[in-house]
Amino acid sequence: MKTITFPPRSEWPGLVARPVQDAGDIERKVAPILEQVKTQGDAGVRELALRFDKVELQSLAFPEEELAGAEHKLDDSLKSAIRQAYDNIFRFHKGQLQPAEKIETMPGVTCWRRSVGIEKVGIYIPGGTAPLFSTVLMLGIPAKIAGCKEVVLCTPSDHPAILYAARLAGVTKAFRIGGAQAIAALAYGTESVPKVYKIFGPGNQYVTAAKMLVNKDGIAIDMPAGPSEVAVYADDTAVPEFVAADLLSQAEHGPDSQVLLVSTSQELITAVDQCLDIQLADLPRKELATQSIGNSQAILVQSEEEAVDLLNAYAAEHLILSVADAEAVSEKIINAGSIFLGNFTPESCGDYASGTNHTLPTNGYARQYSGVSVDSFVKKITVQHITEQGLQTLGPIVETMALAESLHGHQRAVAVRNEKGKF
Ligand code: NAD
Repeated sequence: MKTITFPPRSEWPGLVARPVQDAGDIERKVAPILEQVKTQGDAGVRELALRFDKVELQSLAFPEEELAGAEHKLDDSLKSAIRQAYDNIFRFHKGQLQPAEKIETMPGVTCWRRSVGIEKVGIYIPGGTAPLFSTVLMLGIPAKIAGCKEVVLCTPSDHPAILYAARLAGVTKAFRIGGAQAIAALAYGTESVPKVYKIFGPGNQYVTAAKMLVNKDGIAIDMPAGPSEVAVYADDTAVPEFVAADLLSQAEHGPDSQVLLVSTSQELITAVDQCLDIQLADLPRKELATQSIGNSQAILVQSEEEAVDLLNAYAAEHLILSVADAEAVSEKIINAGSIFLGNFTPESCGDYASGTNHTLPTNGYARQYSGVSVDSFVKKITVQHITEQGLQTLGPIVETMALAESLHGHQRAVAVRNEKGKF
């Protein structure tokens, strides 16, 4: 791993910058795909599936027998792992749903906010290189808790674990459609696929570009997506084998994965480097991980204060704090998607089964975006009720403000009530 020693703060922007991706070229390829689905519906989707996925689809929806039969194709240990992950994710997300609190802002003036599930949502589950059934749980469970009536899943994969997780999570309709054509079908609707109001889920560059384009047409999306990333902040209390394993668990995603090690200890960096060589040797996805580690860096900093500032500047999707008093350090972190504390909290646990969501902001977006949660699947509707006496007190304030803005209609809507029709 390339090590950068005590870089001056003036060099930090360059160190935390992600590779710039030119989306223009991909968008030019994706736009005609969206148009084809918009104008030809199911027939357009079938032609694109044949062209890009080499599959001839009779029914776009997974047949009921295939969904029901999925559990018989999985071994018991995987089913039991998926069920335990389901329980943990459900428990953590259920706690996010808070009852509406009615606030009396003045005597007789009461305001509150109701959470209402977005009626129809779409979830995309990538399937090209790995069957990401964990993502079905991460998106399906909060949708169910939020009370979304229709949860429509699209995936190019027919892996039984995806279908099993879909049933468990309460997905209402599932289609075997992948790529940009899946996003178009969810955004615009076809004869078979219901149009949804918000689309969630990761995917390759075609899927991501399609989500950005349909967003311009008013379809909400979860967040802008980029290659996955981890930053590890480790001191002398960290275990080099563990740190190296965490870095590789991210690096194996693909050559564009981002891995960053920050430390106050040169000894630790050297030890991690040695462990990387040993662990890479027999990693099945060695080629991908080697490329990704080759593009990554270790940064030696002078102090904990500098480390925290650098990590906040980087705004990692995943941040592992393998340092003494990790929880106290985590309180100083203001930019990160998800934080993992101590030597026994690998990112993999959050990726699959501890309970938190693994759909997180990448590419520095952790500065302004949160990861997916139940909140992502609800709208908040504000409600208010004012009594006759309440309007006596609040009314003159509103009338004064409305007249100052020259909005006489607004003023009269209060006056007509307080003065019983005389104004
Ligand atoms: P995918 O399901 O995203 O894409 C496969 C689809 O791409 C195919 O169904 C096909 O229709 C379409 N496609 C392929 N070649 C095409 C072409 N030339 N033109 C138009 N469409 C084409 O699956 P994938 O390819 O395996 O990608 C998975 C992606 O998901 C990876 O890039 C991975 O990094 C990403 N991912 C990201 C996260 C995250 O949280 N950031 C998590 C998991 C996966």
